[in-house]
Amino acid sequence: MTVKVIGGGLAGAEAAYQLAKRGVTVELYEMRPVVPTPVHKGGGIAELVCSNSLKSVDPDTAQGVLKEELKLLDSAVVRAAYESRVPAGGALAVDRNLFSSAIESILKNTNRVTVIREEVTRIEDNSIIATGPLTSDGMGKAIAELVPERLYFYDAAAPIVTAASIDPDKSFFAARYGKGDADYLNCPLNDEEYGRFREELIKAEKVIAKDFEKGELFEGCMPIEELAARGRDAMRFGPLRPVGIFGADGKRAYAIVQLRKEDNYEHLYNLVGFQTNLKFPEQKRVFSMIPALKNAEFVRYGVMHRNTYVRSPGFLNADFSVKGRENLFFAGQITGVEGYLESAASGLIAGMSMAEKLSGRQGVVLPETTVIGGLQRYVSGYSGNFQPMHVSFMLLPQIEGIRDKSLRKRAYSERAIADLKKFIADTQTAGFSAPTA
Ligand SMILES: Cc1cc2nc3c(=O)[nH]c(=O)nc-3n(C[C@H](O)[C@H](O)[C@H](O)COP(=O)(O)OP(=O)(O)OC[C@H]3O[C@@H](n4cnc5c(N)ncnc54)[C@H](O)[C@@H]3O)c2cc1C
Repeated sequence: MTVKVIGGGLAGAEAAYQLAKRGVTVELYEMRPVVPTPVHKGGGIAELVCSNSLKSVDPDTAQGVLKEELKLLDSAVVRAAYESRVPAGGALAVDRNLFSSAIESILKNTNRVTVIREEVTRIEDNSIIATGPLTSDGMGKAIAELVPERLYFYDAAAPIVTAASIDPDKSFFAARYGKGDADYLNCPLNDEEYGRFREELIKAEKVIAKDFEKGELFEGCMPIEELAARGRDAMRFGPLRPVGIFGADGKRAYAIVQLRKEDNYEHLYNLVGFQTNLKFPEQKRVFSMIPALKNAEFVRYGVMHRNTYVRSPGFLNADFSVKGRENLFFAGQITGVEGYLESAASGLIAGMSMAEKLSGRQGVVLPETTVIGGLQRYVSGYSGNFQPMHVSFMLLPQIEGIRDKSLRKRAYSERAIADLKKFIADTQTAGFSAPTA
């Protein structure tokens, strides 16, 4: 049996690997570079479209637990991320080109995955649809026929500047509260500079959205100009937060723009939290008002884009298969999970579950106390206003009786990992291969 995985992004690549390692032959369809998306730059498998950060590795955060769970389940995406890691304090950030090559080589080494460069516009059984937030129009129509209800909303990508063009006298390396390595380059602004910058940001010319793109802004990926318009201090409580960062004089700035390394060679930096919908010349004009970026050379400007996802509750089972069509799966951002590793996690569950079902067994639903299990239940069963969702301890059965916040987080983390280890041990006979920690 050959399974078709449609979309060679984070979810599709992970699903293909999970199938292949269980002996299933996979055709992985990726339309790039033949058919481009508005945001991807090349044809690489699992290209990261925006930030190069896969977020925190702190084991007491939901993001840190997600990484541990993915490691225990032998995720190709997380393995590739560690192979291509670049320094970023407490975050797992990657060199995006090395990351993509590492995944391609993991898939190649399975000898069971064939990558086919073609746009797919039909939906068939024995497939996993992982076409992402920028699903092509043709596939979008096919999904609309299958699911009458689809949603659109905005997301945004941050600009990237060259390291050499940043003024070293007006920027400094430091970690917030001295935690982790000082990998972020901090660009301070005083009260007056901040006020002027904010005014121009609000006034600047924006790209006009097409009618079909008008929709809700996702709070976690809000354009900087929208945030600025919410109030004078909104940016200072958000990405320009100065607390815990001190310059060489030991003083705290009024506001700080943080830059994060884009590659291991430290040639490029992205403006953290600066997703934007400003026109390109306006980005140059306004962002150059940040003193350290006065002469900044922009190698990529921020962009706005459509983000497509399905209202999954009532449509998908917890193993990401379609209700009533047990061998047809959706995976990744299109299912309403949000984030690189959340997308990989859903691809992992879909790939594992498809392999299980092909062997006559049930799909995989992890314990509700794990962060991936929490996401599975959210996507398949949430009864409120369905919004794309990151992993969160809030999606898990709550732990009562521990008042101290950090101890409570530790308890969520320990419970999740212990329960996943037990689940893996208990289900090994049901087809799981040995996990690698
Ligand atoms: C501009 C932008 C910025 C983002 N920024 C971040 C961020 O900073 N951090 C974060 O965690 N998440 C971010 N996201 C969300 C991000 O897209 C997801 O986290 C992740 O990439 C989703 O993985 P995926 O596999 O579902 O989709 P993708 O990684 O997008 O992969 C889907 C793949 O399917 C291909 N495809 C589409 N249609 C077809 C078709 N019909 N036939 C064949 N192939 C097809 C596409 O070319 C693409 O390669 C951003 C998204 C966008 C669009």
